[in-house]
Amino acid sequence: MAKVLMNKSGKRFLVKDTNKDMHTQFGYFKKEDLKAKSGRIRTNTGKEFTIFNPFFIDLYKKIKRDAQIIPLKDIGLIVSETGVNNKSKVVDAGAGSGALACFLANIAKEVITYEIREDFIELVKNNIKFLNIKNIKIKNKNIYDGIDEKNVDLVVLDLPEPWKALESAEKSLKAGGFLVSYSPTIPQVMDFVNYVRKNENFAYLKTSEIIEREWEVEERKVRPRSQAIGHSGFLSFVRKI
Ligand code: SAH
Repeated sequence: MAKVLMNKSGKRFLVKDTNKDMHTQFGYFKKEDLKAKSGRIRTNTGKEFTIFNPFFIDLYKKIKRDAQIIPLKDIGLIVSETGVNNKSKVVDAGAGSGALACFLANIAKEVITYEIREDFIELVKNNIKFLNIKNIKIKNKNIYDGIDEKNVDLVVLDLPEPWKALESAEKSLKAGGFLVSYSPTIPQVMDFVNYVRKNENFAYLKTSEIIEREWEVEERKVRPRSQAIGHSGFLSFVRKI
């Protein structure tokens, strides 16, 4: 059973194996202490940490990544705009590292994720196992060729040519169901929205970009963090009508 160690500054370690001592820049934790269920423990140099069972997000932040994953700020908008919940049936493509699929599986009833590359499928399987998720199905299929699932509440596309999956999504979504497309560049957004507008069975809602600016709060030195804000992608929201 994995454990999390956290100190007063929010510094956090995930202990994957409590049968071994854990070495950190703060000194090391004895395995006997790591096995303790909860409470405060100290390193050999006296630094205090609290040990607890991992939350979903503690494990999620440690999954293996290969393809570019969707950042949490963007997942936040997908979840809030669609209201995805424990009754939802979700289709996701492509799986990539499975980051979005896993996050949504933690909220939804079931997630079916499509991926064409077999090497990525292996990675996703390992991440699912690591997170102990039971409600994801992985399909080694090209989503442009169709979606087997019907009556779907939400289809999320993170693909180079999302407009090619429009017909698949149209057949698989229930009336009112959401289609969300995530693209890093504007030409992709333009083509996607143009194709959506031509389709009688889709209502285009909006395209947004989320810019998250973290602040430093240190006594009276309170200001935005100086590092640059990176670009991730644009999110386009559509509903089946
Ligand atoms: N959202 C994912 C990252 C997706 S990266 C995450 O959060 O981890 C895009 C993935 O789409 C790649 O792995 C690529 O192999 C896959 N892909 C590209 N075209 C596809 C298609 N037509 N059908 C299914 N998967 C596809």
